[in-house]
Amino acid sequence: MADRAAIYVQDDRLVWAPATVLQQSAGKLVVKARRPANDASLESCPYVELQTEGDASTLPQQNTPAIVEDLVSLDRLHEASVLWCLRERFFRGKPYTRTGDDIVVAVNPFKWLPQLYDAQTRERYGEKQEEAHAYAISNRAFRGVLDGRDQSILVSGESGAGKTETVKILLRHLCGDSSDVASRVLDAAPLLESFGNAKTIRNDNSSRFGKFTRLRYDGHGRLRGSDCETYLLEKSRVVAQAPGERTYHCAYGIPDLDVAALHYVTASQRGTIEGLTDEDRHSQAWASLAKCGVSAKDRDSLIDMLKAVFLLGDSTDEAASLLGVPADSLKTALKERTVTVRRETTIVQRTPAERTAARDALAKELYARCFDWVVALTNEATSVDAWEASCGLLDIFGFESFPINRFEQLCINYANERLQEKFCRDLFRSVQAEYEDEGIPFEPIAFPDAAAALKLLEGPMGIVDVLDEECARPGGSELALVSKLKTLHDDNQRFYVPDKFSANKFGVRHYAEPVSYTVDGWCERNRDALHADLVELMKKSSVSSLFETDDKRQKTVASKFRRRLKTLLEDVSRTETRYVRCVKPNSEASSSLFDAPSVCAQLRCAGVVAAVEMTRAGYPNRSGHAAFLARYGRLTSESDVESVARSLLGERRHAVGKTRVYLGPGVLEFLERLLSTAH
Ligand code: ADP
Ligand code: MG
Repeated sequence: MADRAAIYVQDDRLVWAPATVLQQSAGKLVVKARRPANDASLESCPYVELQTEGDASTLPQQNTPAIVEDLVSLDRLHEASVLWCLRERFFRGKPYTRTGDDIVVAVNPFKWLPQLYDAQTRERYGEKQEEAHAYAISNRAFRGVLDGRDQSILVSGESGAGKTETVKILLRHLCGDSSDVASRVLDAAPLLESFGNAKTIRNDNSSRFGKFTRLRYDGHGRLRGSDCETYLLEKSRVVAQAPGERTYHCAYGIPDLDVAALHYVTASQRGTIEGLTDEDRHSQAWASLAKCGVSAKDRDSLIDMLKAVFLLGDSTDEAASLLGVPADSLKTALKERTVTVRRETTIVQRTPAERTAARDALAKELYARCFDWVVALTNEATSVDAWEASCGLLDIFGFESFPINRFEQLCINYANERLQEKFCRDLFRSVQAEYEDEGIPFEPIAFPDAAAALKLLEGPMGIVDVLDEECARPGGSELALVSKLKTLHDDNQRFYVPDKFSANKFGVRHYAEPVSYTVDGWCERNRDALHADLVELMKKSSVSSLFETDDKRQKTVASKFRRRLKTLLEDVSRTETRYVRCVKPNSEASSSLFDAPSVCAQLRCAGVVAAVEMTRAGYPNRSGHAAFLARYGRLTSESDVESVARSLLGERRHAVGKTRVYLGPGVLEFLERLLSTAH
C-alpha cells in the first residue's frame, strides 16, 4: 500500500469519512481526515489526525474522480464511494445520480431547483442524454413508446423521500405539450391528492395510497389519455390521527363543516402546505372535478357524502339526513345486528364499544368509496379505447420497519418484496447484457433469492393464506395465526423468525432487514367487512350506486391485495422497466443536511448498494482501455492493452472487454503496488 493513499475510514456521522494515510505500521494506522461536527458542510471543517487500528489496504479506497454522474463508472466500487458521491452531489445541487441507464437515485433536495426543470432542460433531454436526471428516465421511456413498446417507471423510497414529486416531474415530461388531454391527465393529480393525501409527521403532503398511472399514447407518441389504479388507501386516518398529524386534506375545505369541532379530527390546525392554503387546495380540487366533466349534481352528492363521513363521529342524525336514510334506521343498524344461524334469525344488541366500532367502520368504508369514486371519475375523464403504447408510473410506499409493525406494514413490505425481486431480475439481465456487449464471459453471479421469502408471504400455507383461514374460521384468532405459522414454517428460519418472548409477534427476514410484526387486530383489519345490515341500509341511501356491486362473500384485504399485486407485476413484466430510487437525506426536510447513516440504510433497503455490487460482481474495478494503458503501460514493454494485462496479471482474475478492462478482487491493489515499487 502506497503511503498517502486516499481511503475512507469509518465514522459515526459520515459512516465513511475520506482520509489520507499518513503512516502505517504493524496494525497502527495514522490518517488525516475531516470529521465534521455537524452535517451541513465539510468546507469549514478542519483536517484532524486520527489513529486507528487496522490495515489501510483493507479499507475502501477513494476514487478519482470521486463525483460521477453514473455510479457504475466509479473505478472502485463500494458503499463508501457511493455514499460519498451522493453526498457531494447533494451539496452541489445535483439531486440525481445514475446507476447505469435504467436506474436513477434521487436524493430529495428539499428545495425547488428551478434550473433543473425549465423548458430548456426538458427539451434537452428530448435530444440526448447528458447529466443524470429523472428526465433521462422519462426520455428513454418515451423513446420506447415511440417504437411501440410498453414502458414502466417504478418510483420507490420511504415517506418524504420525494416519490410523488418525482412522479409529477416525470408525468409533466411525459405529457409533453400543453394539449387538452395532457392538462386533463395532469389535473387529476391534485384532485387525488386532496382526497388521498394528509399531513403526517414525516411529510406535510403525504400520499396515503399507492398509485399506478398508465399514460396511453397513439402511434405518433401523442398522449391520448390515462388510466390510474390505486392501492391500500389508509382508512384508519378518517376516524383518528396520530399526534401532530391531520386527516385528509379535503376535510379542511368542505363548506359549512367546522372541522375543529369534529370528533373524528384530532388535529384541526389549518395550514399552508407547499404554498397552498386549505381553501386554495379545495377550490383547485373542485375545479379539477368540473374539468373532469363531473356534473354539479354529482359534485354535490360527493360533498354531502364527505360531510356525512366526517359528521358520523358526532351526529348520527345529520349523517343520516345527508345520506338520505331515516335517522332511526341508521341508529338501529349501528345498535343491533342480525345474525342468521341455520336459517334462524336473531337480533343481537351491540355493546357500546361495538357500536363505536360499527360507526367507525361505516365512516371508513364510506370514505374509501368516495375516494374510489373520485378515482373512477378521473379515469372516465381521461380514458381512451385504443392506444399503441403505454407508459406506467408507479408511486408506491417503500419498505417500512417501525418499532411496532402492523398489518399495513406487512402489506407494504410484501409489495416491496415483490418489486425488489423484479428489480434484481432486471439488474441481472442488464449485467449480462453489458458483459455480452463487452464480449467477456458472463459467469452467473450470486443474486438474492426472493422466492423463498415470497413463498412465506403469499405461497400456499403462507402468511396470507393462514391469516385468511383464521378470518374464516369461527373462533379464529391472531394468536392461533402466530402459532400455526410457527408450526408450518419453523424449518424455514432463514425467512421466518419466530418470536421467543411474545405470542402475538412473528418476524420475517425481508430483503432489506428482518421485521417483527405485531398481530393484534389483524383478523378484523383483514376482514374489513361492513356488517350486512349496514350494507343493506346503504343500498337504500342516496349513495346506493356505490354499494351496488357488493356481494355477500367479500374477499379479504390480504388476498385482494395479493391478487392485485400479481396483476400489477404481470403488467409491469410486459414492459421495459426503469427505476427511480428516492432517498430522504434527513428527517428535518432541510436542504443542507445529509444524514449519512440514514441514507446508507435507505440505499440498502432500495437495493442500490446491491445493484452496484451486482453490476460489479466478480470484477469490482474497471478501467477504460486508454486509462489502463496510460497508468500501467509503463510497467511493461508491451503496447496493446491485452498484452499489457496478460504480462502484468498472468493468472490474476481479469478480463479485457471491447472498451474496458475488468479487474477481479485485489487486482487493482496489486497493480498499484507494482506501480509504487517501480518508482
Ligand atoms: P413521498 O411521496 O416520497 O412521501 P413527496 O414526493 O411528497 O414524498 O415529497 C416530500 C416533500 O419533499 C415535498 O413536499 C417537497 O417539499 C419535497 N420534494 C420532493 N421532491 C422534490 C424535488 N424534486 N425538488 C424539490 N423539493 C422536493
Ligand atoms: Mg407520496
